[in-house]
Amino acid sequence: MKNPRLEVDLCKIRHNAQTLAGRLTPRGLGITAVTKAVCGNPAIARAMLEGGAVGLAEARLRNVRRLREAGLTCAVTLIRTPMLSEAAEVVRLCETSFNSDLRVISALSAESCPRRAAHGIILMVEMGDLREGILPEELGALALRVRALPGVVLQGIGANFACFGGQAPEPAIMMALSDIVVETERTCGVILQTVSGGNSANLPWAMGATPTGRITDLRLGEAILLGVEPVSGDRIAGLHTDAITLVAEVIEAGFKSLPSRAAKATASGRRIRPSRTTRLILALGVQDTDVQGLVMPVGTTFVGATSDHLVVVTQNALPRPGGEMRFQLNYSALMRAMAAPDIETVLRCDRPPTDASYAVADPVLAQHRHHQY
Ligand SMILES: *Cc1c(COP(=O)(O)O)cnc(C)c1O
Repeated sequence: MKNPRLEVDLCKIRHNAQTLAGRLTPRGLGITAVTKAVCGNPAIARAMLEGGAVGLAEARLRNVRRLREAGLTCAVTLIRTPMLSEAAEVVRLCETSFNSDLRVISALSAESCPRRAAHGIILMVEMGDLREGILPEELGALALRVRALPGVVLQGIGANFACFGGQAPEPAIMMALSDIVVETERTCGVILQTVSGGNSANLPWAMGATPTGRITDLRLGEAILLGVEPVSGDRIAGLHTDAITLVAEVIEAGFKSLPSRAAKATASGRRIRPSRTTRLILALGVQDTDVQGLVMPVGTTFVGATSDHLVVVTQNALPRPGGEMRFQLNYSALMRAMAAPDIETVLRCDRPPTDASYAVADPVLAQHRHHQY
């Protein structure tokens, strides 16, 4: 088998999505599965949908194109607020997008007008994470402007937490978000269909005891793919944390004491003590992944890495060149490995697509899919 490679167990991805859906549905929350960390891999997206996700979310149009080319017709939301320069393709590829700028929304409106279906607008509101989003006090006015535009529908409100500024989605803040929804509905005289309350960091709140209020949906990537809660890094009970594994090949193995001159400094500037443990070099480097985000196998310690080499020491039986080593990954290591051109993705437990991946929210749209993509 080719190395390095990412092994993805689709049964475990399905299980994770299904387990989360089973816990969130009774709380009135749907799951929109986020595929950006796997670059819109269609088989992984399908597994998430089969597990019960109601739709997909992506940050990049290239990944959405990949999903569409693989035949996925489910609703896709663009969760990175669109570039003005990509408005035409956003309305062609995505049912819905997150937005925070009237100029961009106007462009989406103009591009969407000649099309059959209106493009859904979810307005992002700033709740303390200090990334995308408009201030709560400006939301009502913007919502009214959006309501007046042709070709787009004001589909809802979204918020993001624990990404940039680090604001955690505490119960009081989630309640404040619900209040903002009610206020916007009153201002605009509409019922908002979607209130996208946050990401995997929202799970402690979502699976806790406080009411979920007007929140209807969470966008989940990390929790489904890695089975962990991002803020604490803790495993979520009942989920697989080993659905995805990075496999790399050993290219040198042996004992190595550094010559004294070389010991003074390595390329990374770190001094490395000579050691009598087994030292391995693997064909994997910082160009392939976030090496700091690799979980070392038991008995193995990370020593360092360069663009194309990973150096570890191990107490385990000496693997020979040609042997393999398996690593779990954190989110950062995962997304970079998925995007690396030299790392192949190998699917386990793949099965023929079911109807779930072809489900379309709007039956009128369904008849016209073939012409759209
Ligand atoms: C990446 C992203 C998500 C998904 O976050 P996870 O931690 O993987 O669940 C959700 N919403 C937005 C806006 C994002 O950019």
